[in-house]
Amino acid sequence: MKNRFDIQTLRKMQELMNSPSLDERGFTLCVNQRDLKIRHGRECQGDSCTVSLGSSVCNENENPLGNFHTHPKRVDTTPSIPDLALAAKDGMGCIGANKSRRVTCFTPRHDLNVNPSDAMNVIFDDLLNAKEGAFRNKFTYKNLSEEDFDEGLTRDPNWRNEYQKAWKRSFGLFDRHEIF
Ligand SMILES: [Zn+2]
Repeated sequence: MKNRFDIQTLRKMQELMNSPSLDERGFTLCVNQRDLKIRHGRECQGDSCTVSLGSSVCNENENPLGNFHTHPKRVDTTPSIPDLALAAKDGMGCIGANKSRRVTCFTPRHDLNVNPSDAMNVIFDDLLNAKEGAFRNKFTYKNLSEEDFDEGLTRDPNWRNEYQKAWKRSFGLFDRHEIF
């Protein structure tokens, strides 16, 4: 998988993970139609930094494929459930852990009896619609960064098991590719 990425884009991942800022940083991943290399498109910064795939996020002759974003406080490249939901929808999600400089990309598995994108929609909607546990404070959680959101859920004893069960179901829908 690593050799599918353009070298400048791999450098850009490293550069964003070196950022001293605690903001998430990232960019759209785009496939070049000619050489089929994956290159970076539009950049983003801030909480839950993900660029939704629409028009003009990639350069000419390139098509959007997914996104890369950093987890500034993390050593591991564990994706959140929202990260996986987006990766299923778009085709690829890459996470960079600033504290270890590791990058892992997640792509939906195609060898399953379920469509990963449909399965993720169900899992994600179940979490968002939950009336009990941590989501009683939905409004509060909305204002947290993605990492704090995840940590908040896993710290809440009422919610930890539910979240971890949902996360495990999600994680099994993806192939993992270590990039760094
Ligand atoms: Zn994330």
